[in-house]
Amino acid sequence: MTALLEVSGVSVSFDGFRAIDNLSFEIGPRELRAIIGPNGAGKTTFMDIVTGKTRPDTGRVLWGERSVSLLRLSEARIAREGVGRKFQRPTVFEDQSVFDNLLMALRKDRTPLAVLFYRQSARDRARIGELAAEIGLKDQLYRKAGELSHGQKQWLEIGMLLAQEPRLLLVDEPAAGMTLAERAHTAELLKEAAKTRAVVVVEHDMDFVRRLGCKVTVLHEGSVLAEGSLDHVTKNRQVIDVYLGR
Ligand code: ADP
Repeated sequence: MTALLEVSGVSVSFDGFRAIDNLSFEIGPRELRAIIGPNGAGKTTFMDIVTGKTRPDTGRVLWGERSVSLLRLSEARIAREGVGRKFQRPTVFEDQSVFDNLLMALRKDRTPLAVLFYRQSARDRARIGELAAEIGLKDQLYRKAGELSHGQKQWLEIGMLLAQEPRLLLVDEPAAGMTLAERAHTAELLKEAAKTRAVVVVEHDMDFVRRLGCKVTVLHEGSVLAEGSLDHVTKNRQVIDVYLGR
């Protein structure tokens, strides 16, 4: 299988401190992967590198069938290439309906005013119906996003990202602050999303990672400490020591 994203030998230092240290990581085009690791392991910096927010000092970040170097592309261009990122806190338009939030994302125009011009398209309406079903908000389409629960807002934002059809979705701690039922739904949603694209989930909650049932990459001090199933990595002596702070 050819990788969709291939990171190799990447290092980055901040004021002499190596936040990412000779990191290599690969993900396939329809793969779900969890990244775990203690605070300061480099998880956020890794996502910053893939999205072009942080430029590494050394190493390669190759993308797609043609192995394009993401290091040459701007953040905006990387997003257009199909790298979507969901930050931990939901950023939806609270005063707009679920429908209009999805519509803005679909039209790649995040201004409420533009929505007035687009609402009439039957194709857009059909796609919004599909997306709402996918994220479990079909019955909430005409509610204001601000009235949704925390979990529902997170799903809406995932839906807004899916509307833009990313080939790789990076998701930062999606289960934080969610109820048990919401976590279960979120895990299903991400598993479903990974059937048609690559999804990387950075997560602290091991029960949630177990629900994802995917390969896990453990980061520590900016490089990969272990990789494999959750059961496999949690039996690893070094991983146990890192988590116990030894
Ligand atoms: P994680 O997301 O796994 O908690 P981070 O990627 O946020 O880890 O951070 C990795 C390390 O790099 C930490 O020690 C952090 O303090 C440091 N770091 C991250 N970003 C910066 C920055 N912009 N300037 C200085 N140090 C940073």
